[in-house]
Amino acid sequence: MPMSSAFKDRLFPALKSIVEHYGTPFHIYDEIGIRETGRSLKHAFSELPGFREFFAVKALPNPRILEIMQDMGFGFDCSSITELLLSRRIGAKPEDIMFTSNNTSREEFLCADAAGGCILNLDDITLLPKVPRLPELICFRYNPGPRRTGNDIIGNPVDAKYGVSHDQILDAYRQAREMGARRFGLHTMLASNELNYAYMVQTAEMLLSLIEWLHSEIDIVFEFINIGGGLGIPYRPEEPRLDLAAMAGGIRAALDRFTAGNNYAPQLYMESGRYMSGPHGVLVTTAINRKNIYRKYIGVDACMSALMRPGMYDAYHHIDVLDKDEAAGTEIVDVVGSLCENNDKFAVERPLPSIDEGDILVIHDTGAHGHAMGFNYNGKLRPQELLLKADGTVERIRRAETPADYFATLDFTPDIFKP
Ligand SMILES: *Cc1c(COP(=O)(O)O)cnc(C)c1O
Repeated sequence: MPMSSAFKDRLFPALKSIVEHYGTPFHIYDEIGIRETGRSLKHAFSELPGFREFFAVKALPNPRILEIMQDMGFGFDCSSITELLLSRRIGAKPEDIMFTSNNTSREEFLCADAAGGCILNLDDITLLPKVPRLPELICFRYNPGPRRTGNDIIGNPVDAKYGVSHDQILDAYRQAREMGARRFGLHTMLASNELNYAYMVQTAEMLLSLIEWLHSEIDIVFEFINIGGGLGIPYRPEEPRLDLAAMAGGIRAALDRFTAGNNYAPQLYMESGRYMSGPHGVLVTTAINRKNIYRKYIGVDACMSALMRPGMYDAYHHIDVLDKDEAAGTEIVDVVGSLCENNDKFAVERPLPSIDEGDILVIHDTGAHGHAMGFNYNGKLRPQELLLKADGTVERIRRAETPADYFATLDFTPDIFKP
């Protein structure tokens, strides 16, 4: 099952009362599960000195979640002003923040430099002279272009807008050094939801051979390589998990070979979002309508504003109906929201236990890129977020949006200008 049986055992017996207390819809996140995944990640890479995860804030940008990541020793991967502010709000220090922006604006550079700065990961060689104050430590995001193929979700590197091309990477570091950079890192991000560990090992090998070459050309030493995020989770019950131990073993072997040839080893960084929090969140929603036309539709009280992935990527999210199981028979239904968009569906032609109005549906794997991706199209509002804490209590960690939030950007001092 995508959602672990342990999470189910913690949540399902209490779910009716949680629904009664808070009302639906809501995302609820499992602190114990997040901490277990964090521990297993640290354990897998424990033999690599300096290994660090920078949690990709965009996956689940909630301060209470970021505090859990911080408590586990993780840093934060940010790519916007708001994400920088969120990380600093919970006390992240300059060395805890990796700023990986794309098409970066001056305002973003200024914010990255504020409050003592952060680790700056530059997306292009032309950005160097635009950095208001170049820090001592500089990292570039590398795009291997035709030298690597990506996966279905993120696409091929040649088509990607991200990163510095192979032909420019040497000049990028040379220029950075001429401009005063003294410490260096190298970053890439090539895969999304990748379940094949070997791909991630190849990414580390690619970065290691690149820093070996860069060192031979311009004699710079790299403090770290950052293999990005993109570690996958099984959304479908029959999918195998990513083999984290094999991935760690492969990267360790590559680092050992590198150390033998170069007499030093860079630290390994990664910036997983989905892998850390994805399976540890669910969207809980109530069936409010049933409709039989050419297909059978179950209308629920959440919509795309709470979870875009099915509509945007055709993504599969497993669904449980509380207190009903498939042994009693199933029917084929579409589970839909209320948006005026026909892709506002959480499931399409899915066999599910027969659902009645009032039933509670649990949509799995919404702990990453779930609430965070929601939007206000059609005037739809984003739901509340809850945290199921390690002590068994539940805390509301974000309230639901209200019409007043929607109207907040319409209420301002008039500004009329005659050009
Ligand atoms: C989105 C993103 C991540 C996190 O991706 P996941 O698939 O959630 O692991 C990490 N780094 C960068 C630069 C990203 O854009």
